[in-house]
Amino acid sequence: MDDLRDLYQEVILDHGRNPRNFRQPGDHNRHAEGDNPLCGDRLAVYLRIDDSGIVQDAAFEGHGCAISMASASIMTEMVRGRSEDEARALFDQFHRLVTGTDGDQEEGGVDLDKLVVMSGVREFPVRVKCATLPWHAMTAAMAGRKTATTE
Ligand code: ZN
Repeated sequence: MDDLRDLYQEVILDHGRNPRNFRQPGDHNRHAEGDNPLCGDRLAVYLRIDDSGIVQDAAFEGHGCAISMASASIMTEMVRGRSEDEARALFDQFHRLVTGTDGDQEEGGVDLDKLVVMSGVREFPVRVKCATLPWHAMTAAMAGRKTATTE
């Protein structure tokens, strides 16, 4: 678990301990389960998307390491109020961030904001799957699929 020490920045710890939007909304209309067998992270992402394609609510439940929980927590905060296309674009940028293929500066697009705290996982390829699991589940839910796996 030594590799986690450097990742455990304050924000990640905070979200990992007190995940935001950790609930199953009664009025969700999309959901998908995410499974990361390498780490044992399992979570479900719940979305309520209105007729115009805007994410009105995003929440999750499950269990896993602090990285997956923090990433899910931050994700649900960030995608609310965005369109499905914007949420997918955010995932694209986030994926480049955590895989280290984004360069230092993002050109245009959405503000990665709080997601930047997750960039430390790029040093730990196994952890990239933890960080991206909730995003895979979210995009699966948007696509009408019920499951997403990192493997
Ligand atoms: Zn994990």
